[in-house]
Amino acid sequence: MSERMPALFVGHGSPMNAVESNSYTKKWEEIGQQLPRPKAILMVSAHWYTHGTRITNEKTPRMVYDMYGFPEELYRVKYPCPGSPELALNTAKLLSVPVQVDNSWGLDHGAWSVLSRMFPEADIPVVQLSVDGTAPAHMHFQIGRELSSLRDEGIMIMGSGNVVHNLARISWQQESGFSWAEEFDSYIRMKIEQQKYQDVVDYEKAGASAKLAFPTPDHFYPLLYVLGAAQEADQLTVFNSECLMGSMSMTGYLLQ
Ligand code: ZN
Repeated sequence: MSERMPALFVGHGSPMNAVESNSYTKKWEEIGQQLPRPKAILMVSAHWYTHGTRITNEKTPRMVYDMYGFPEELYRVKYPCPGSPELALNTAKLLSVPVQVDNSWGLDHGAWSVLSRMFPEADIPVVQLSVDGTAPAHMHFQIGRELSSLRDEGIMIMGSGNVVHNLARISWQQESGFSWAEEFDSYIRMKIEQQKYQDVVDYEKAGASAKLAFPTPDHFYPLLYVLGAAQEADQLTVFNSECLMGSMSMTGYLLQ
């Protein structure tokens, strides 16, 4: 029997978190040192938002620099981890939705900005699973459910996004979040602490704050995979629980 692996959601924020040192990245490093070592990581990043569900299965995943106008050093970040064709196959077998292998993608900045801090050795195989932008919220939760058993086979399930992510409303000078951002972030946190995951799926019930939290749910949906993969015995740890620049939340959730 393998040790049960955690499922975690990481609020990734700015791509610069791949190279900067701040309280968020320090926490990611700390978590990486504390977590058990998985056989492989199944990564669901907000930045692979596709038509249908896709998966990478290359032995060596490619780097995807899907951000624009950032300093040169960010485009030199490498995360030379292996892939896992075996995990890709096992994942596809577990899912009730069709899964298309697509190696035109690889590790995007939602994945490598976090992984390079959490597991800097880059020696754990990583497979990336896309977020189907055409599927409703409950489908993402359902896919997480179907993936939950992977955790008992030594696979860590990681979602990378942001609970609040509204770039059009970013205020660079503001350190904390706007009131609606704090409100939505707290609402989601409360629902997760109460294990009322269905209310997280039905996030629109939060009201006005949900309408402002994000214009599209690409950064929110990765959280639903992680909650779907929750198991009864899990203990919850909330980390980096705060909003910044008005309209961004960095809050992360670790289930183990
Ligand atoms: Zn992002």
